[in-house]
Amino acid sequence: MENCRVRFAPSPTGALHIGGVRTALYNYLLAKKLGGTFILRIEDTDQTRYVPGAEDYIMEALAWLGITPDEGPSVGGDYGPYRQSERKSMYKEYALKLVENGHAYYAFDTPEELDARRNEEKAKGNHSFKYDHSVRDQMRNSLTISEDEVKSMLDAGTPYTIRLMVPTDERVAFNDNIRSDVQFSSNELDDKVMLKADGMPTYHLANVVDDYLMKITHVIRGEEWLPSTAHHVLLYKYLGWEESMPEFAHLPLILKPTGNGKLSKRDGAKLGIPVFPLSWNSDNPEDSFKGFRDFGFLPEAVLNFLAFLGWNPGTEEEFFRLEELVGAFDLNKVSKGGARFDFDKAKWFNQQYIINSSNADLLELVKPLAVAKGIEFSDAYLSQCIDLMKERVQFLPDFLEVGYYLFEKVRNYEEKPIRKKWKPEQKAIFEKLLADMVALENFDAASIENTIKAFMEEHGLGFGNVLPFLRIGMAGTMKGPGVFEMMELLGKNEVNERMTAAYTAFDGIKGA
Ligand code: GLU
Repeated sequence: MENCRVRFAPSPTGALHIGGVRTALYNYLLAKKLGGTFILRIEDTDQTRYVPGAEDYIMEALAWLGITPDEGPSVGGDYGPYRQSERKSMYKEYALKLVENGHAYYAFDTPEELDARRNEEKAKGNHSFKYDHSVRDQMRNSLTISEDEVKSMLDAGTPYTIRLMVPTDERVAFNDNIRSDVQFSSNELDDKVMLKADGMPTYHLANVVDDYLMKITHVIRGEEWLPSTAHHVLLYKYLGWEESMPEFAHLPLILKPTGNGKLSKRDGAKLGIPVFPLSWNSDNPEDSFKGFRDFGFLPEAVLNFLAFLGWNPGTEEEFFRLEELVGAFDLNKVSKGGARFDFDKAKWFNQQYIINSSNADLLELVKPLAVAKGIEFSDAYLSQCIDLMKERVQFLPDFLEVGYYLFEKVRNYEEKPIRKKWKPEQKAIFEKLLADMVALENFDAASIENTIKAFMEEHGLGFGNVLPFLRIGMAGTMKGPGVFEMMELLGKNEVNERMTAAYTAFDGIKGA
């Protein structure tokens, strides 16, 4: 489909939730799959909800993940501007056109009047007052006020909104790529505001007008927009654009890790997991988050994880980089049911992508973290650390945190194996072994290994009597990387110092 045009249309009201990133990704994948165009449109008509920095955040998040728009505020394109606030003057004519052809009306009810009415209804036990077909003839609007009076009110500059006149007793039906036939009874739909008193369009009007003017062919967005689509379908009809109506696809909800309920931004803080791509810092600590990037995720892992939140290729294959996702993606394989946000799966993906990254690529990512921590080692050294540790970390900072002992002395020793196996008389034996190692001309892993093996044989010692102590002496833990390689990397002097310190510490632990 040459002319497939899709858009990601976030509102800059704060940090972009991970669900929004998934929406962007699926849009991108479909566009690329069909050889089409991926558009970023900033929906910033609601000035009261505008948050400075949110647009930059959105762009940075997309750039980090490599989901780059073909058209958008920063790249331009033939259908701009791509910020709705810069398109303000375009919308009113469509609202007026709706009024003209009898599908919308002027409403003069003030916010105070609407509040009063809402309260009245509440007092009667009706908590969901809707401005709809059942009440519109009781309100102050151009359906209840004479034409002349309406004209003079408009001439006098009386504030007004324009509301869509939803028909009564009609079925509003549309096809959804994920949910098939979707139907609404028009009686359930309220008379949505199209143009606000400040002259700005609402989301509904601006969204449909822009989708039309930008020649959007597929609207892919979160499930929460499904009810709005009924209004949008009416708008296409009343504006005479039925022929250009896009295809719709409403993506499943992202559920909490437990599977119960929708994943919320509060879940992130509560569970100590990221639910945003990047960190977001605001004056309000409750509105500040640590993102996937700052947890130390690779963008490839996040993409792979997100792609699988609601889609799978229908095969056993789990690893897909962006270009592979483009090949495999299919909107028809997106599930209807909610997708559980399984953070363990995200970690697992990250681990796999770290293992499969080159040392050089990892160096680029780990080096700035090291510098920030004041860890100053040569690239060659860091690169060897990366090689030793890459099968043992989940997040990028782990290279420096889990593997801290490659950069500084051991902070504390794992005590259990020492209590169980260390015997004070071993100290003398180990000192001999250390002397043999220090005497080595080539202090490389193979020579170290040979020396240790020869020594064990000579003294009738098994691996279990020697290696755990060497490991703990070098790294403080049994879980570190290969001990011979680690020793080679640390170098003779450091090994000597660490082992000497360790024997004394081991005696202390055993004696304690
Ligand atoms: N501005 C809407 C949002 O913030 C866009 C919804 C849509 O894609 O139509 O999600």
